[in-house]
Amino acid sequence: MAKTGLTLADEQVAVASLWRVLDFGTHPLVNRAAAQSAAARVVESSSLPLVSNYSKLTGRRDTNPQEAMATKVDALVVGAGPVGLSMAAALLAQGLRVRIIDSAPDRAQESRAIGIQARTLEVFEISGVVDQFLGLGHRLNGVTLYGETGSEIGHLDFGYIPSRFPFILTLPQSETERILGDHLRKHGLEVERQTALIGFEQSDLTVLAKIALPDGRQEEISVDWLLGCDGARSKVREVLGLQFAGKTFDLHFLLGDVHAESALSEDHAHVFGRPEGLLAFFPLGKGRYRLVADNPPEQLRTEKKPTLNEWQSIADGRSSVSMKLSDLGWTTYFRVNSRMVEKLRRGRVFVLGDAAHIHSPALAQGMNTGIQDAWNLAWKLALVQRCFARPDLLDSFERERMPVEHSVLRMTEFTQNMITAEKRSNRLLRDNLLPILSGTGVFQRTATKTVSETGIEYRSSPVVEDHYAPDGPHAGDFAPGVIVSRPEKNGKITLATLFGQGHVLFYLASLENWPDGFQTAKPIFELIQKHYGRVITAYLILPNEASLGQPGIDVLVDIEGQFAQHYATSVLYLVRPDGYIACRCLAAKHNLLESYLDKYFVPL
Ligand SMILES: Cc1cc2nc3c(=O)[nH]c(=O)nc-3n(C[C@H](O)[C@H](O)[C@H](O)COP(=O)(O)OP(=O)(O)OC[C@H]3O[C@@H](n4cnc5c(N)ncnc54)[C@H](O)[C@@H]3O)c2cc1C
Repeated sequence: MAKTGLTLADEQVAVASLWRVLDFGTHPLVNRAAAQSAAARVVESSSLPLVSNYSKLTGRRDTNPQEAMATKVDALVVGAGPVGLSMAAALLAQGLRVRIIDSAPDRAQESRAIGIQARTLEVFEISGVVDQFLGLGHRLNGVTLYGETGSEIGHLDFGYIPSRFPFILTLPQSETERILGDHLRKHGLEVERQTALIGFEQSDLTVLAKIALPDGRQEEISVDWLLGCDGARSKVREVLGLQFAGKTFDLHFLLGDVHAESALSEDHAHVFGRPEGLLAFFPLGKGRYRLVADNPPEQLRTEKKPTLNEWQSIADGRSSVSMKLSDLGWTTYFRVNSRMVEKLRRGRVFVLGDAAHIHSPALAQGMNTGIQDAWNLAWKLALVQRCFARPDLLDSFERERMPVEHSVLRMTEFTQNMITAEKRSNRLLRDNLLPILSGTGVFQRTATKTVSETGIEYRSSPVVEDHYAPDGPHAGDFAPGVIVSRPEKNGKITLATLFGQGHVLFYLASLENWPDGFQTAKPIFELIQKHYGRVITAYLILPNEASLGQPGIDVLVDIEGQFAQHYATSVLYLVRPDGYIACRCLAAKHNLLESYLDKYFVPL
C-alpha cells in the first residue's frame, strides 16, 4: 500500500487523472485551482515518478528533472521490424510520445515475409495505409496442392475469407517496412538507426533503458514502458529472463526469389508434395515467384546459397509443370524453429512478434501474428498511460494473445507436417483425404478463416462482455467492416476508418417508432458525451437520410443497408480501437454498458 492508503493502481489513476486535467486544460467538472492543489497533496504523499522524486527513481543526477520530464517519452519501442513499426504507429495514433530504435543501419533488404493476411489488411485499413499495400502487392485468390504423382489433390479458395479483403496479398517484407516507416515519418517519428538496446532495469514505476548510439556513446533513457519488438534473438527477452521453449525441427529448407516462365497461374500459390520433397511457388506478380523447397540435396544443407542451376534442377525434379527459371534474387538456406515465451510481460516491459514466438513459415503467419500483437497492446497501453483506463486492462494482453500464439504454433506445425509428409503412408493419406475435404464448404470456410487470421476472436477475454444472444457479431468478434455514409461530409466510408484512435459506440435505430424509440438509447449517448468524450465517440446509425435530425449526436447513414445486414437493430455495440467489439447489449439494458464503462474506464 502506498502512503495515501490507496493501492498503487488506485493512486496511479488518481494522480494521473489530476495531471491529465492539468495537461489538457480545465475540465468542466473540475475546478482547476482545486485540481492543482489536490494534485500537489497527492504528489506530496505519492510514490509515483513525478518531478520531485525523478532522480531517485531513475538514478540520474545529470539531468534537470523539469527538462527531463518535458522531453520524456512514454514508451521506447526496441526494433523497427514490421512489429515495432506497427507498435510505434499505433501508439502515436493513440497520442503517446514514442521513441523507436533499431540496431541495423537500414530496414530489411530481403523479401522475407511475403504473405499479408486479410486480418492484417483490415488493421492496415484502420491505420490508413491499406491503399498503399493494395497498390503495390499482388493478390492470391487461392492455393493449389499437387500430390505424390504431380496431379492436383486439393484447392483452397480464398474467396471464402469473410473479409473485405478475400485474398492473400504478397509483398516483400522490405516493402512492408518501407510503407510502415514512411507512415511513421509522416506522423513525425523517425526510426533511430544503428541504435541498440544493451540493457535495462525496471522498478514498479519506470524503466531505465541503456542504449548504444551510432557514435559509440551510450545513453540512458527513462520511460514508462518498454516494448521488445527485437526479433527472434531478442535482447529484451534475454534481460527479462524469459525462456524461449520449443524445438528446432529436423528439417532443412531452401528459399529463393526468381523469375519463372511456366503455365502456372499467377493468381494462385502452387504447392507440390512429391516423394523427393516439397516445392512451393508463391507468385509475387510480374512473373516473379518465391520458391520454397524442403529436403534439399546434401551439398545444399549448409549456409552456401543455392545457384540458379541448382534451383532449376530442383524445379525440374519436383514440379509437374515445366518451367524456366531466371534472374535469381535473394536465396538462402534455413531451419525451422517452433518456440514461445511463457509470459508476454514482466512489469513495464512487454515482448511481441518474433521476440515472443517463432514457428514454421508455413501459412505465412509470423509477421501477421506479430502485427496483431502490437495492435492488441497499443490502445490498452495508451489508455492506461493517459489514465483513461484502469491499469489491470493491461493484463488482458496476455490473456487474449497467448491462446492465439499457441494455436499459431500448433497449426503451422501441423500444416508443415502435412505438406512435407516425408513418410509414404502419410503422403498416401494426404493425397486421398485432401480431394474429399477440399471439396466441402465446411473445410473451405474453416481453413480460409484460419489462414487469413479472420477467425481470431476474443470472446472469452476477461475484458469483453456480451449481453445479447441472438444474431450479429458477439462481443470479442472483429467488428464487420461495412460501408456507411456521413451526411455532413457527403461521402461513403468504411467503419474501419472510424477505429484506431479511440473506442466507438454504434447504435442502429429502428424506424418503426422513430424518433421516440431512440429515447431508450439516448441516456448512454449523453453519458458518453459527458464523461467519456475523450475516449469514446458515439454514432447513431440511421437507415436513411429522411430520418436525420438529432442535434448534438454524430450520425451515420446505413446507405447500402450493409450495417443492418451485419449488425442487429436497437443494440449498443462498443468497439475497441483495434476493431474488436468490447461490449454489446440491448439499448433497453444500457445500464449493462454503463457498468462496463465504469469497470474499465476512468470517467472525467
Ligand atoms: C523465410 C521466411 C519466410 C517468412 N514468410 C512469412 C510470411 O509470408 N508471412 C508472415 O507473416 N511471416 C513470415 N515470416 C516470419 C516473419 O519474417 C517474422 O515473423 C517477422 O519478420 C517478425 O517481425 P518482428 O518485427 O517481430 O521481428 P524482425 O523482423 O526480426 O525485426 C526485429 C528488429 O529488431 C532489431 N533489433 C534486434 N535486436 C535489437 C537491439 N538489441 N536493439 C535495437 N534493435 C534490435 C533488428 O535489427 C530488427 O530490425 C517468414 C520468415 C522467414 C524466415
